This record gives sequence, structure tokens and C-alpha cells, in this order.
Amino acid sequence: MAEITSGRVGIMGGTFDPIHCGHLAAAEAAREAFSLDTIIFVPAGIPSHKDETEVTPARHRYLMTLLAIMSNPYFQISRVDLDRGGVTYTVDTLRDLRRELPADAAVYFITGADAILEILSWKEPGRALSLAEFIAVTRPGYGLEQLSQALGPLYEEFQDRIHILETPPMGISSTDIRRRLAEGRSVRYLVPETVLTYIRNHGLYGAAGER
Ligand code: NAP
Repeated sequence: MAEITSGRVGIMGGTFDPIHCGHLAAAEAAREAFSLDTIIFVPAGIPSHKDETEVTPARHRYLMTLLAIMSNPYFQISRVDLDRGGVTYTVDTLRDLRRELPADAAVYFITGADAILEILSWKEPGRALSLAEFIAVTRPGYGLEQLSQALGPLYEEFQDRIHILETPPMGISSTDIRRRLAEGRSVRYLVPETVLTYIRNHGLYGAAGER
């Protein structure tokens, strides 16, 4: 990751299996809505809520993410979760990245709203919410009530640090892309061309050849 000196930083956390145009559009929407100077994409190591064998090896997810973000000068990538090894907990991601950022940086952790709804089951959720404000990305029509329920006892203290960002492209999902590829269906325009080429070249998700 290149040195970051400017003050408003988004940290885009996800398994990215694979990264798709919805992730990229959401990051760009967050950059614009929150006037962020940089967005750092952070592919997760072993997600805490998934079986290791269910997830594509980290090196592929990292390289697909790198290919996807390369053309955007505001986007960067970090290996922090991959190099730490083992299960990824967001509190560790934020602690490690905070060390690399200016002390006065305003830090926003961006991820899917459905993931953030589970935050009470995360490791040290209160600490994570102290280390960054959170941006919960979702498709339009998402209810704020769900969030207050999900945060439970943390709601009073942290409600001002969690923001909902509605973006239409969140209809795209990695699960759907994996299913389409396994069924031999097209994912063109759902993932960047460079990522699609990588998927085909490595035969990921049961994909083969041109379609
Ligand atoms: P997930 O459970 O696979 O995804 C939940 C939903 O959020 C899916 O609809 C997913 O869509 C979407 N999503 C995931 N990342 C996104 C992103 N960056 N932008 C927009 N939508 C996104 O979630 P995950 O990918 O494994 O985890 C998301 C982040 O939360 C990661 O950084 C992970 O480390 C963190 N997390 C931390 C803990 C913990 O600290 N204990 C527990 C769970 C998750 P797609 O499938 O299309 O991406």
C-alpha cells in the first residue's frame, strides 16, 4: 500500500469472492458521499463466519481485487488481513491499518449492511466502532429499524458512527456470480473484464472458456 498522507480514508472490507462491479460502484459512491480521499480495499483472510474450504484461496481473491481497482487512482489495496493470517476480525484490520495512517485521519469502514447487522457477534464490536465510523452499503429501501435492533446495547453510544449508504448496483452479489459461472452463464458487465479474464484463465468457480 502506498503511503497515505491525506485525511479522509475509506477501508473497504470484504471477502471479495469474487470482487464485482457492485463493490466498485459502492466504493465510488462512498468516496463521493463522504468526500473520501482514498479507499483501501482489504480482502479478508479466512472470514470468521465461513468455513475455510468454502472460500477461494486468498491469493486469487487478492489478485482479482488488484486487477479490479487498478484503473481508479483513488483506490488502493492492502494485504493486512492476508499477511496477519488466520481468521479476519475487523477490529484487527482497523488496528493494523490505523498504525499505517496519519494519527488524525478520519477513517470509515465500508462494507455490506447485512454484514454490519451481525456486528454484535464480531470480536470487540465497541472497539471496532471506536476505531472507525462504519458505512453500511445497501440497496435502496433498507430500514434503519433493523440497524437499531442489530446494535442492541451499542445503539445509543454508536448510532452516530454508523451510516447507511443506498446504492442501486448492490443487486449484484458474489454468490450470484459464482452460481452463474458454475452454470455456464454470462457474468460479463457484472465483473470487470480483467477479473473475468483472470477467472477464466484460472478456471475459478467452475468457469471455462469464452462465453
Ligand atoms: P458476507 O457475510 O459475505 O456478506 C454480507 C453481505 O454484504 C453480502 O450481501 C455481501 O455481498 C455484502 N458485502 C460484503 N462486502 C461488501 C463490500 N465491501 N461492499 C458492499 N457489500 C459487501 O461478508 P464478508 O464479505 O465475509 O465480510 C464483510 C466484511 O465484514 C469483511 O471485511 C469482514 O472481515 C468483516 N466481518 C468481520 C467480522 C468480525 O470481525 N468478526 C465478522 C464478519 C464480517 P457480496 O457477497 O456480493 O460481497
